[in-house]
Amino acid sequence: MKKIERKILLNPGPATTTDSVKLAQVVPDICPREAEFGDVMREVSEDLLRVVHAPEDQYAAVLFCGSGTLAMDVCVNSLLPKGKKLLVLDNGAYSSRAADIARAYSMDVIDAQMPVDCPIDLAQVKAILAEDAAQDIAVVYTTHQETGTGILNPVREIAGLVHAHGAIFIVDTTSTLAMRPIDVVRDGIDFCMASSQKGIQGMTGLAFIIGRKDIIAASKDYPVRSYYCNLYQQYDYFRENGQMHFTPPVQVIYAAQQALKEYFVEGEMAKWQRHTETMTAIHNGLAKLGFREVIPQEYQAGLVAAIAYPDDPHWSFERVHDACYAQGFTIYPGKMQGKGTFRLCALGAITSEDIAAFFRVLRGVLDDMGVAVPVHYEN
Ligand SMILES: *Cc1c(COP(=O)(O)O)cnc(C)c1O
Repeated sequence: MKKIERKILLNPGPATTTDSVKLAQVVPDICPREAEFGDVMREVSEDLLRVVHAPEDQYAAVLFCGSGTLAMDVCVNSLLPKGKKLLVLDNGAYSSRAADIARAYSMDVIDAQMPVDCPIDLAQVKAILAEDAAQDIAVVYTTHQETGTGILNPVREIAGLVHAHGAIFIVDTTSTLAMRPIDVVRDGIDFCMASSQKGIQGMTGLAFIIGRKDIIAASKDYPVRSYYCNLYQQYDYFRENGQMHFTPPVQVIYAAQQALKEYFVEGEMAKWQRHTETMTAIHNGLAKLGFREVIPQEYQAGLVAAIAYPDDPHWSFERVHDACYAQGFTIYPGKMQGKGTFRLCALGAITSEDIAAFFRVLRGVLDDMGVAVPVHYEN
């Protein structure tokens, strides 16, 4: 077997994976309609429930073939009753994307845009809900970690307000699930979602939604806004047939099965500890070179650092990227409007030692380019 070169991905997903996960994809050909494959999907679904401590009698995990945005699409389009409104608490690019999805389906959406450089303000949420005296808002949506900035939103506190209003709460946990501990009951999350290439450290192509069965059952009677991406239909088809409605990403699901095994061997808290150590190494390495992070650490979810471009005539993100990439390290552009930023992320099967190796490479690249170290900023 050819040796697989190890690459360190510091982008916000897909993540660096273990060789055992990569190799789990190499399986005998199988028709996914076979019961044997249904068992694999059932095991993956049950494991996903365990990752977020979702009681099996109340929650279901529903699998789809697609990237993370597909899971967002499914949640947005499938859970809004006729004549009701979706409220998106929007403090970043991913919540904005959810609002875009709702608009694409001509749904009645309130896109509550908030400052992108701090967590969602509970007082503002309270005020928006208080204005909805007629209780038109049936669904509230937000993002756990806005991956563009690394900001963590206070979902448990928001959940209290949402439920007091009688609405259901959807949280995009794509960039936190299986990294930062989540407990859907404790955190008041009715629906959350992620994809296989991020926290669980699997391959790209499996999107999943974990949500309350009673609400999924009720959604049977809601408008069907998408043929392929309907939550109730996928849930019901799997329950009845033990299969996905349409062809699943077979090999990716074998990889997810292996990734979840490795997740439970490492353990929820040990994995979170590893990511935290990786992130600490990122913070320290940046500080040592004089780089400025644009979001205060107390606002961060502990998985993504957004860094301002230094004011140096020799700085070029593209050149730094290319030189690091050539040496096995992938860094990533930022996602903040109007600001030159790049990102370093702590997800994936990497450790603080990989980060130490990265900073040795980065230091060499900056020196080669003639960027003054410590880097400097005009103000
Ligand atoms: C990565 C990510 C997604 C999904 O992105 P895809 O490119 O479709 O996989 C959705 N939400 C958040 C918060 C993410 O970080």
